[in-house]
Order: sequence, then structure tokens, then C-alpha cells
Amino acid sequence: MKNLDFDMMRRRMVEEQLIARGIADRKVLEAFMKVPRHEFVREEFFESAYGDHPLPIGNNQTISQPYMVALMTECLGLKGDERVLEIGTGSGYQMAILCQIAKEIYSVERFKDLAENADSVLKRLGYANYAIKVGDGTLGWEDRAPYDAVIVTAGAPGIPRSLVGQMKDGGRLVIPMGGEFGQVLTVVRKKGDTVEASEVCGCMFVPLIGREGWQKK
Ligand code: SAM
Repeated sequence: MKNLDFDMMRRRMVEEQLIARGIADRKVLEAFMKVPRHEFVREEFFESAYGDHPLPIGNNQTISQPYMVALMTECLGLKGDERVLEIGTGSGYQMAILCQIAKEIYSVERFKDLAENADSVLKRLGYANYAIKVGDGTLGWEDRAPYDAVIVTAGAPGIPRSLVGQMKDGGRLVIPMGGEFGQVLTVVRKKGDTVEASEVCGCMFVPLIGREGWQKK
């Protein structure tokens, strides 16, 4: 295997893909400087682990583009003491970023092998402020609710009601919403019994499949 300078690759990713595109939250940038993204992909992808694109992680799923992970994290507006729910554990990379910034992270993944793999990488890297569950994340994780923030890392046809129900008043939900082959990254704020949604930008995610998402074909 080539001798790769992961620290240098990570620094360049932060400078050229995140700061250059306007990511400014220092906590987010510091987390990206710390988390070894290559640990979340298979060895055959080490050379492109810090590239400006998603990568395959098995089961037809992907680890998202670094910029999209950063943008979604920034949209959550985390200060440090939050309890966060993620839907779509995937590789576990987004979780590691969240573990660096917030207090407790809960994540739900529908594929058992992805959940187990993410758990073993996160444990190996020393993270302890998280839990992962296998199941249909469109229904949230009721036992650990309420959450200050919720992040959905797969494309949804609409806002899953269960997720809003498990959020604290004033909480934020960041979710790609739209069609199966293209969505709009949306920030939803819970205000009492209502929600306010604002659109951030176009994006493209694998589908959120579940009872309050897309139906399995
Ligand atoms: N956050 C991940 C990371 O950092 O690698 C990337 C997630 S990938 C783009 C989307 C993930 O959502 C996939 O792992 C997929 O299996 C998962 N997913 C899709 N529908 C789901 C559901 N209803 N519940 C839980 N996970 C779901």
C-alpha cells in the first residue's frame, strides 16, 4: 500500500472543500480536522477517502461527501450539550463528527452489518458518547427522546411525523426532502405544535426507506 499522508489530506479537505465553500463554524471545522475519515472506508478507498465526493460502503449505500456532512452538521447549530438523533448510521463518519461536537449521539441504521461495522470503528477510535440501534429510523428512537437536534442522512419524501414528535420544542431537524433521485436539504424548526421549514440547497441522497419514508420496492 502507498504511504499516504492522511493528516495532510485531511487538512486540504478542510481548507479546499469546507472553508473555501463557506463552512465557518469552528466546532465543525475542528471536528473535521480530528476525525480520520479513511478509517470509515474500506482500504481500497484510502487514496480517495478525503476526496470531494461520496464513496461506497456496501449494501448499495454511501459515506456522504465531506462538504454535505459539514453543511448538515453546521445547520444543526450545535453548542456542545445536546442530545442528537441521527437516522442512517452508514459508515459512522457523521456520528464521529457529532460525537466530537455534542454530548450524546443516538443513531438508527436499517442494515445490521453497517451498524455493527460503524460501532466497531467508533469504539476502536475511542468514542463513548453514542449508541446505535438497528431498525426503521423513520420511527425515531422513542426510548431516548426528546432530542435537541435530529439529522436524517437519507433522502425522504416528507417530514417523518415520529421524528418531529421526539424533538424538544425549539429543536432542529435537518433532512434532505424531495424525489427519490434529487432532494432539497431542509432545516425544520419545531415551534410548539407547528414546524417551520427553510430550504438550504439541492442535494442527492440514497432513499430513506421505512414506514414514514419510501416504501421498499
Ligand atoms: N451518515 C452516514 C455516514 O456518515 O456514513 C451516511 C448515510 S448513507 C448516505 C444513508 C444511510 O441511511 C444508509 O446507511 C441507509 O442504510 C440508511 N437508511 C435508509 N433508510 C433508513 C431507515 N429507515 N432507518 C435507518 N437507516 C436508514
